[in-house]
Amino acid sequence: MKILVANLGSTSLKYRLFDCSGGEERMLTRGGFERVQEYSEAIDSCLDELKSGGWISDESELAAVGFKPILAKGITGCVLMDEAVLAAMEECNCIAPAHNPPYVEGVRKFAGRMPETPMIGLFETAFYQWAPEEAMRYAVPEQWYEMGVRRWGYHGASHKFIAERSAELLGRDDVAARSRTLYVNNGGAELRGTDLRVISCHLGGSSSITGILNGAGIGNSLGMSPQSGLPHNNRVGDLDSFAVPFIMRRTGCDVAEVERMLCKESGLKGLSGGFNDLRDVLERAAHGDARAQLAFRVLVHHARHWIGAFLAELNGADAIVFTAGIGENNPQVRDAVCRGLDQLGVKLDADANSIATGIERKISAADSPVQAWVIPTNEELVIAREAKRFLECRSGT
Ligand code: ADP
Repeated sequence: MKILVANLGSTSLKYRLFDCSGGEERMLTRGGFERVQEYSEAIDSCLDELKSGGWISDESELAAVGFKPILAKGITGCVLMDEAVLAAMEECNCIAPAHNPPYVEGVRKFAGRMPETPMIGLFETAFYQWAPEEAMRYAVPEQWYEMGVRRWGYHGASHKFIAERSAELLGRDDVAARSRTLYVNNGGAELRGTDLRVISCHLGGSSSITGILNGAGIGNSLGMSPQSGLPHNNRVGDLDSFAVPFIMRRTGCDVAEVERMLCKESGLKGLSGGFNDLRDVLERAAHGDARAQLAFRVLVHHARHWIGAFLAELNGADAIVFTAGIGENNPQVRDAVCRGLDQLGVKLDADANSIATGIERKISAADSPVQAWVIPTNEELVIAREAKRFLECRSGT
């Protein structure tokens, strides 16, 4: 069973082709196109590459195309991306303006090009379907809540990968197996008496931290939009809601300009004075730049804040996992985030931490009650897996 996973950016299309036949899970090839003006051309080029590379002889060989959409009104989980779902996504365009419009357009183009092939989307919100209601509500009037003003949580595919993989690494194949069936059987998150508690730190251009109980998300630092929680590369993270009307009144900026500032000029970039890549921030910090040093400290502070929140919710943790661009590659951040947590059971092994870059590795000391791990994430694989489960469930196999 060959499944193409397509990641659609506003001007890019990246793809990976997986063979998910039988018990196998193999990435066959990957590729991508930047500066995409017209999705139809990029889709044609993608299919041409798959054919000329000998990966498929014809697009009918693709069992499905899988996507990682963000948010749709009233819809989550792993679903067939039909017109009703796309329309529900369009209703959320203003919550996810950088994500929803390109996805809707791209899926429509794929569907038009391959009308017989199922288009399957795993919503980034899906991992939090079973999170307790109190973790996902803001204290706003009911009418606003009904309009969608609530915490949704994102990075679901990445945190789901960590949920499954960390369970395997901790010797809990029962939890990994349970986590794998979550979306298909809508089974809920209970697995009483065998609790496994994991805190997953996805630190990258966009960052989020999530608590995982028995393979299911119990909450996420990202909120109604993917702009909240930790500071991101150039996006704001958590902010007192009263700051927005205050800035608008003080500066005369309109909504569009405030939105632009929050999404393009804030986060690490805003704090550091223009540097949105943490590598640049750290280089400047090492040369004594006070703003860059502050940007680093703010990121670490927020990460610890959210880890603390989930330590309380989970009554401790069996493991803390670092993933994504920063989490996988930067020992300095991991060290700063875990520093002084020995009373909470977290002790890093400095040597293991310093050499763990981009590889799966345990980085906690042998006597650390809470294990710490670096686990490279694989969101595309999660999408391929869920698309396969969706198809099997639909055909009753
Ligand atoms: P996203 O898809 O959210 O952009 P990634 O998980 O690919 O994120 O992370 C990319 C980010 O990771 C880059 O913007 C860069 O800031 C950061 N990054 C990558 N390698 C390192 C490193 N060695 N040290 C610090 N930051 C890094």
